[in-house]
Amino acid sequence: MRIDILTIFPEMFRGPFDCGIVRRARERGLVEIVVHNLRDFATDKHRTVDDRPFGGGEGMVLKPEPIFRAVEHLLGEQFDRQRVAVILLTPQGRRFTQAMAEDLATRERLVLICGRYEGVDERVAEYLATHELSIGDYVLTGGEVPAMVIVEAVVRLLPGALHRAESARRESFAEGGILDYPQYTRPAEFRGLRVPEVLLSGHHAQIARWRRRMALAKTLRNRPDLLEKAALSEEERQLLEELRGM
Ligand code: SAM
Repeated sequence: MRIDILTIFPEMFRGPFDCGIVRRARERGLVEIVVHNLRDFATDKHRTVDDRPFGGGEGMVLKPEPIFRAVEHLLGEQFDRQRVAVILLTPQGRRFTQAMAEDLATRERLVLICGRYEGVDERVAEYLATHELSIGDYVLTGGEVPAMVIVEAVVRLLPGALHRAESARRESFAEGGILDYPQYTRPAEFRGLRVPEVLLSGHHAQIARWRRRMALAKTLRNRPDLLEKAALSEEERQLLEELRGM
């Protein structure tokens, strides 16, 4: 996969892609990440990328020309929308989910457009982007951190990025669509707080059942909305009914 990022602050990307799984994926040749300064695609001598909003109002808006020029330079004027995603980061977009990360991980190329100021000329959303994505219901100052979020969520799903193929499958939001179960490690007792005894029992079937129950309990407590669409087994449905009755 190749990922291109368009930003007026390329220096923000020094560091985040040089650690952990993303770094390893780059070193293994699973992904190439190229960060571009949007100003390089401006044509005037001041390398202008923003202008005042039509209709009045506060602040500045990112102009369409440098963004169209950059994407066309990278992809040509026509591109295959099945294999390529051009993503505009915006709080007005659809909320980014694990399912979207899984879809994006199957693409050959991603182009991420980072907005700034009051946002991006709407013609980019209407005529250039294949996706408008938001990372959550809050407003950040720019699309750079959202772009990092999307890169990290996608790259860890690329085949070979994680050590064990199944470790992405049973995480929160993955198969079944509920949260992950709680994890514990040594010491078995810390400041008088004991790890649940079942985890020390070596009884695999009981541990598996306890984990399913705890995953459901945590989802019920913190994200009950996920349970509406979750794919639960009959056993999990019964566990959930028990938990609801408690
Ligand atoms: N005026 C815009 C609005 O209210 O919808 C907010 C613009 S925001 C200050 C500047 C840029 O930050 C946006 O163009 C977008 O690229 C990015 N941004 C801010 N919050 C975001 C979010 N939750 N998800 C994705 N991108 C976001």
